[in-house]
Amino acid sequence: MSWTDELRRLLRRVTSNGPEDGEDGLEGGITCREAAERLMEWLDGELAPEWEESVGIHLETCARCRPVLVFERSFREALVRVRKDARAPDRLKERILESLEDQQKLRTSDLDPAPDDPRGE
Ligand SMILES: [Zn+2]
Repeated sequence: MSWTDELRRLLRRVTSNGPEDGEDGLEGGITCREAAERLMEWLDGELAPEWEESVGIHLETCARCRPVLVFERSFREALVRVRKDARAPDRLKERILESLEDQQKLRTSDLDPAPDDPRGE
């Protein structure tokens, strides 16, 4: 489970990369943080009805959260495929990591550079 755990940690960083106050984007009437916290449940269809709509609207319309939603969807699909194959193709892992990196680049070029960027430089 190591590389999937690693991916999830990275994903968490992406979703929590925004300004801490969450003043950015209030699509659906909720903050990015609120949406990110409920992303998994929303995808599972386990979210309370009063949240489901706002989270759905937010994730589909927010410029910051939408890439995360797209990523998480493909991540889940990839996981299902990997489980079916009973082998984790390195290619797939690389592709997921690449798309995640692209996403972080997009984000960080959009905002101030992340101070704790592991790639340093
Ligand atoms: Zn958002």
